[in-house]
Amino acid sequence: MSQKIAQVIVDVPTMQTDKPFSYLIPEELADLIQIGMRVHVPFGRGNRLMQGFVVGFGDAKSQATAGQNLKSIAEVLDFDPVLNAEQLMLADAMRETVFSYKISLLKAMLPNLLNSSYDKILTTEDAVIAQQYFGETQALHFSSLDEKEQALMMKFHREGKISVQYVAQSKATIKTKKRLTLADDIKLDELSMTARAKKRLALQSFLQEQHHAGENAWDYTTLVKLFSRDVVKFFVSEGVLSLSEIEVSRAQAYFDTIVSDEHKVLNAEQETAYQAIIDSQEKPFLLEGVTGSGKTEVYLQVIAHAIEQGKTAIMLVPEISLTPLMTNRFIARFGEHVAIMHSGLSDGEKYDEWRKIKSGKAKVVVGARSAIFAPLDNIGAIIIDEEHETSYKQDSNPRYHARDVAIWRAKYHGAALVLGSATPSLETRARAQQNVYQILRLTQRASAQAEIPEVTILDMRKHLNDKSASFSESLLDKISEKIAKREQVVLMLNRRGYSSFIMCRDCGFVPECPNCDISLTLHMDTKTLNCHYCGYTTGIPHTCPNCQSKKIRYYGSGTQKVEEELSELIPDARILRMDVDTTKKKGAHERILSSFGAGEADILLGTQMIAKGLDFPNVTLVGVINADTALNLPDFRASERTFQLLTQVAGRAGRADKKGEVLIQTFNPDHYAIRLAQAHDYEGFYQLEMAFRRKLNYPPYFYTVQLVMSHQDEDEVVKKSYEIMSLLKANLSDQARILGPIPKPIARTHNLYHYQLLIKYRFEDNLAQALNQVLDLTQVSDNKNLRIVIDNEPQNFM
Ligand code: ADP
Ligand code: ZN
Ligand code: ZN
Repeated sequence: MSQKIAQVIVDVPTMQTDKPFSYLIPEELADLIQIGMRVHVPFGRGNRLMQGFVVGFGDAKSQATAGQNLKSIAEVLDFDPVLNAEQLMLADAMRETVFSYKISLLKAMLPNLLNSSYDKILTTEDAVIAQQYFGETQALHFSSLDEKEQALMMKFHREGKISVQYVAQSKATIKTKKRLTLADDIKLDELSMTARAKKRLALQSFLQEQHHAGENAWDYTTLVKLFSRDVVKFFVSEGVLSLSEIEVSRAQAYFDTIVSDEHKVLNAEQETAYQAIIDSQEKPFLLEGVTGSGKTEVYLQVIAHAIEQGKTAIMLVPEISLTPLMTNRFIARFGEHVAIMHSGLSDGEKYDEWRKIKSGKAKVVVGARSAIFAPLDNIGAIIIDEEHETSYKQDSNPRYHARDVAIWRAKYHGAALVLGSATPSLETRARAQQNVYQILRLTQRASAQAEIPEVTILDMRKHLNDKSASFSESLLDKISEKIAKREQVVLMLNRRGYSSFIMCRDCGFVPECPNCDISLTLHMDTKTLNCHYCGYTTGIPHTCPNCQSKKIRYYGSGTQKVEEELSELIPDARILRMDVDTTKKKGAHERILSSFGAGEADILLGTQMIAKGLDFPNVTLVGVINADTALNLPDFRASERTFQLLTQVAGRAGRADKKGEVLIQTFNPDHYAIRLAQAHDYEGFYQLEMAFRRKLNYPPYFYTVQLVMSHQDEDEVVKKSYEIMSLLKANLSDQARILGPIPKPIARTHNLYHYQLLIKYRFEDNLAQALNQVLDLTQVSDNKNLRIVIDNEPQNFM
């Protein structure tokens, strides 16, 4: 008889491959192991236990490995598969365009908690099992059982006789509360106490009363508060009450506070879009709608329609838009059927949400990028709001784009896919042009009185102000005028490609990071110079390290500096600042926004963070302090980004009945990205920018792949880069262009030198195969210190 074997993808960082390894399935586990479960397997010469995923089965006979001595699976980690068939297929599909090994794709689909160690707690209601296996205890730790017992427990679980909870070994990640259950009501009545034990008597009659009223379990803390810890302890030791811990869902309290909300009556444009989306799932939709046109209302109703049909939905929004303001709109409509996934959650909280989805309790998943992997069944709608946002592309391994995953999953489920934006990415808009996507437009603001705000451009070359480095007189006057009317102002400082630094006035010396070729950023709150790449920190020097001059000047207008300047210029203004420094703490982001929303400040001053999603009716002025810091970056998307950002931030003004105004300060007043943003002319921008892209052979006319090689030794990284270039040249056609190798714009960080290659191409049959060869170079032991990153369709060239 041939023994069953399992194919396991093992997580070994230094020896990755997409090929599964074969392991024997121990007999007692034979009926229990399923595809998609995690297992521990011995690996390598040392037989270290490694985590892996079961991805298939086979007979030892039929394997190429027949005759070899296969190792056996050591332990099964799951009672139910954590990955389903769809996810395993999805990983295969993603592997064709994402150049990292399959294990990293599979891990990306799971909450972190499942990629770390944790234990399982077993409980049972079955009296026979309880007596035979549980003995005195209420709950068993799975890890404390031997192999045979583990297998037996899995069998009982299958038969529905025991239930399982996953518990992180670091207990902090699971929130529990203690409960007291009445274990024995006869003992309760017979409990003998002296008349002096007043508190004990009080608890006794409390419990008797409650028991007669049908209540048999109480919150531990409540009883302790009422009757003291000692009294409660006494009842537990007498076997009258039994103490247990139950897991509580952290999100629960939150749902109870939100007032539910009804559908709005759609306007004509919204109705047309809605009907089109629910009528046909043949193609993805591009919903191109100006800011405030009511895209979200369309999403809500499309999702409601999916739910009416017994289906589920995924709603993706950019991480920084995932504010309570945003998520509340979904909870208000769909109540407890909503699961929310964002990076602010602890691992335990993320795991709670994941389980809520997996168990079928959640029907609507609202989240950032990784929520696209939500293990929902029967998906009826997938929506990506602000589809142009670069945060939908993961910028670390695995470098996937949520939009691509969405397209695949929508097809798999026959679901409607909606890509929404006021400023679609050129790639998406071009696909709509070619009828790959169906375009739907919302051209008006949805709120009856709200109008698109008027935008004024301030040429900073003419507005140079003696009093202030950051503010023109016009902007300052406007701010004062609004504050006098008790209206609110949003000011944005574009920080992209920009930071504060110090420089010696005498010799021009700028301190740089010793590990990275980049100048150190000045932080006034900590009075330090920091490297934004590797985290190096040093004090601000009083004398120039180069020429000993004392004339050290602070340059640049970080948000802090601008805030200081502003409070000097308009002393009565109440200013709230929102940037990476003020939002580091959990919940800080929300606190700032709700404080502003409550009118506790006149001005919200922030970075790009404030450009999205804010919907405050009292904001009538939006000022952009520096529109063009990003325009000169060495990135072909610089204009696109600037246009998108200005359009987004302008959309924050005049969202209700008060008319909004936007002032944009710039040194490039004639730049088309700024002019067309002023005119709210997305289509005009699209046409013009497409012409540039065509001329320069950039996306969407050409596809791009970026390879970044890094090494401590510059000679070595150059040598390897040329080897990789030759490998690519040998495999690709003459049509493909390979640019480089050249040093990255920031050539050295973390003491590593970075070189890049850029491939531009239109059709290359052998590209995937060639890139996989490059990927495999990372596993060659000679290249231990060489890092290679393959970024398909990179979003960021810095
Ligand atoms: P977008 O997502 O396009 O920026 P929103 O969906 O946030 O726009 O809508 C902007 C504002 O208009 C919101 O305050 C919303 O409640 C309101 N709104 C949307 N649709 C309607 C409608 N059909 N009738 C009335 N108000 C609407
Ligand atoms: Zn100097
Ligand atoms: Zn550094």
